[in-house]
Amino acid sequence: MDSLYPELEDYIYRYSGRFMTDDEAMARKTVMYSLKTQSESMLSMMREKGWMSDDPKILSMIADGSEALKDRIVKRIWNDHREELSLNLCPECKLITRTPDARQCRFCFHDWH
Ligand SMILES: [Zn+2]
Repeated sequence: MDSLYPELEDYIYRYSGRFMTDDEAMARKTVMYSLKTQSESMLSMMREKGWMSDDPKILSMIADGSEALKDRIVKRIWNDHREELSLNLCPECKLITRTPDARQCRFCFHDWH
């Protein structure tokens, strides 16, 4: 397994938070929460709680959008931590499952319950 594909990128982005830097994790959260609401009062509440950042450094990381951010973070983790990632791969086709606990393959439908 040496190349990324969209489902694997999703999985790494969702489940490999421990390999993210603090800035990457905050940028990811900031993007996620900012997509949830347009309300300025909600946004400022979330900033106060530390769920989002308005630090210019974080804002510059997300300036080109959530997909570009995801792409950069996933590629960096893949390059730096490929061997350490705990990936729940299908025992049959070796592709990535939907979640760390999944026991059925979305690609070949192999079931290992
Ligand atoms: Zn499979």
